[in-house]
Amino acid sequence: MNLQNEIEHLFISQRTEWDLLNDNCKQLNNVEVKSLTWGNDIEVILQYNPSRITSASAKVDTESIQQRKCFLCDKNRPNVQKGIPFFDKYIILCNPYPILQNHLTIPLYSHVPQLIGNKIIDMLALAESLPDYIIFYNGPKCGASAPDHFHFQAGLKTNILMTGENDLRSCLTIESNLKADAEERFYDVYNYLKSHQVHEDEPMMNIIAFMENNKYIIHIFPRKQHRPWQYSANGKKQLLISPGALDMAGMFITPRKEDFDKINREEIEDIYSQVSMAII
Ligand SMILES: [Zn+2]
Repeated sequence: MNLQNEIEHLFISQRTEWDLLNDNCKQLNNVEVKSLTWGNDIEVILQYNPSRITSASAKVDTESIQQRKCFLCDKNRPNVQKGIPFFDKYIILCNPYPILQNHLTIPLYSHVPQLIGNKIIDMLALAESLPDYIIFYNGPKCGASAPDHFHFQAGLKTNILMTGENDLRSCLTIESNLKADAEERFYDVYNYLKSHQVHEDEPMMNIIAFMENNKYIIHIFPRKQHRPWQYSANGKKQLLISPGALDMAGMFITPRKEDFDKINREEIEDIYSQVSMAII
């Protein structure tokens, strides 16, 4: 059985035994969405998803992280959560708080920090094994709610998530027929970005990788800020939006109804201008 079929079976069996997952998957089918457009070319989709409140409001400072039990470590995961091994290093799990259809979390077995390091090749291998999926990575200061435990995420492809550069924010695209070539070019970009952020453990970024027409495609969203000022504003000015890879691609997740209702194009532009790093 190929990996995509194994994952379909995993969802079927996990949904019968795990109410939280089943309820949130059902809720995802009824989730409210709306679209904002700029001319004919640019679109942002908003998704009102209350189940994401924990992730969006996660405290990711070092002290808070040290005080909580890591939810990606095997010993702390719920007994009901089963997975599929990948490369003897990763475990493919159903994400119980889905944003996408077949939303997966793919942690390493080992509790090691969220740093892409030499793992882009694993990301490309996942994309190759899961041709109907996008694989995504949130840097430790760019939306990862477990910056202390390395993980990818994945979900079924939608057009908006495969969107490259547009006028709202930067996106560097690598496209190659060869995995090793895509990997090498990724590290060229990585080193270039690193030269702009020498004090960071790794350049701030989100990554989306997928296969299309037998090509390996990597979208890199360079970042300069974790969360927009509106995140920690008070009262009506607050927008509880903590951008990760999907938001950077064009799919904003709003866990609160009031944010979903009020957010407008100017605020989207403003958020992108705060968190996206312009590349010259
Ligand atoms: Zn862990």
